[in-house]
Amino acid sequence: MRIDVVSLFPEEVDRCTAFGVTGRARERGLLQLHGWNPREYADGNYRKTDDRTFGGGPGMVMLVEPLRRCLAAVRQADPTPVHVVYLSPQGRRLEQKRVRELAAMPRLVLLCGRYEGIDERLVQAEVDEELSIGDYVLSGGELAAAVVVDAVARLQDGALNDAGSAAQDSFEDGLLDCPHYSHPVEHAYGTVPEVLRSGNHAAIARWRRQQALVRTWLRRPDLLQGRELSKVDRKLLEE
Ligand code: SAM
Repeated sequence: MRIDVVSLFPEEVDRCTAFGVTGRARERGLLQLHGWNPREYADGNYRKTDDRTFGGGPGMVMLVEPLRRCLAAVRQADPTPVHVVYLSPQGRRLEQKRVRELAAMPRLVLLCGRYEGIDERLVQAEVDEELSIGDYVLSGGELAAAVVVDAVARLQDGALNDAGSAAQDSFEDGLLDCPHYSHPVEHAYGTVPEVLRSGNHAAIARWRRQQALVRTWLRRPDLLQGRELSKVDRKLLEE
């Protein structure tokens, strides 16, 4: 998969995604990340990429033309069609289901705003989708873009050492993940639940499912709303 990041600070996304699973996915060639700076497509000695907002008020707005030229160069760099995402607090909130869909696309362009955001005409003309990483405001889209890169990178085939581990994660089957424990069995903070040490795979699977259901019910009841639980799950939840 190829991801092109359009940003005044593309190095920020590069740095944030250079380690761990994401870094490995990049090293293995499962994900190619390319940074593009609209400043290189701006006019004049100052290479201006922003100006005041029409109508008055505080804050600057990212200009159409440097971004338009930059995006044209991005499109030209590779014949694979692009899906252009503008990271924006006004976008649809990013969820794991959408991450999976994005991860299956051959090529993504992540457009990062700064200041008050991007001139609306550029957004209307060039953007396929606006995505938000949550109901709060960041000073730039770079960290949000890094979140998207990380989330889709770990879903690329071969990115995780254990291919099955992503399927167990929170949200994959609509529930939160169960709690996990490791060595030592006994610690001042508590003891590892006995069932996990029993070697009884059926009992372990049952315990994990129950924990996932209870956690979801307690912490994120919205995930269960409108969901028809199986008879077995209902029983586990009631126990
Ligand atoms: N004036 C904009 C508004 O209130 O909707 C906020 C602009 S914000 C200061 C600057 C840039 O940060 C945005 O253009 C966007 O790219 C990015 N950004 C801020 N919050 C975000 C969020 N929750 N999700 C994704 N991107 C975000």
